[in-house]
Amino acid sequence: ETAIAEYAGVFAEKIVIGAGIDGVMDTLVKIFVDKGDEAIIPIPTFSLYESLVHMADATPMYLLRSVEDDYAIPAADIIAASTEKTKMIFLASPNNPTGNRLSGDDVRTLAESIPEALVVLDEAYVEFAEKSSAKLVNEYENVLVLRTFSKAFGLAGLRVGYAIVPEWVIGNYRKVSLPFTVNNVALIAAVAALKDKEHLRRSVELV
Ligand SMILES: *Cc1c(COP(=O)(O)O)cnc(C)c1O
Repeated sequence: ETAIAEYAGVFAEKIVIGAGIDGVMDTLVKIFVDKGDEAIIPIPTFSLYESLVHMADATPMYLLRSVEDDYAIPAADIIAASTEKTKMIFLASPNNPTGNRLSGDDVRTLAESIPEALVVLDEAYVEFAEKSSAKLVNEYENVLVLRTFSKAFGLAGLRVGYAIVPEWVIGNYRKVSLPFTVNNVALIAAVAALKDKEHLRRSVELV
């Protein structure tokens, strides 16, 4: 947690580590999404969100990214699609597969306009973007940021991911998460990868 906190520029108290973003997200959905709830998913995007929402017996509410908007998703459309049943809004930023990034202002607008829902920002590809929204977790109680060692660091097979979350989420997370989800070898590799700035730089440049 300490090494990740330093890398991400947030407090270690806000970090939970899991078996990839997939593992972290699975736990988050188990905690926060119940039968009959809704989750907003702008598509096309990473397919796991939809699967987890279905597994929770909840309803995915799809918003279609349009070529006219250059595949960006206007915050106003997300707000319009939200209801009192909306528990989560899944937003990959940069998005897989379209590459769109959400601005900090958009994240703020969403967090403030839909205070009862969690804005889940999937930053799997943040190393390829100029900016991160991780710091907004300090400002809002309903913004969660997910990161991974699977992409720019090239360690997908080791299964290490993490979430930067408001502190009130941490207790819930530890209650629901399996106690030993990440093995020591993977953690040692992850810490080493964070130190190897040159490898990261070359990997990002190459990709
Ligand atoms: C690859 C990917 C993930 C999964 O990452 P893991 O940490 O390997 O589970 C999550 N979100 C997006 C957008 C991805 O592209």
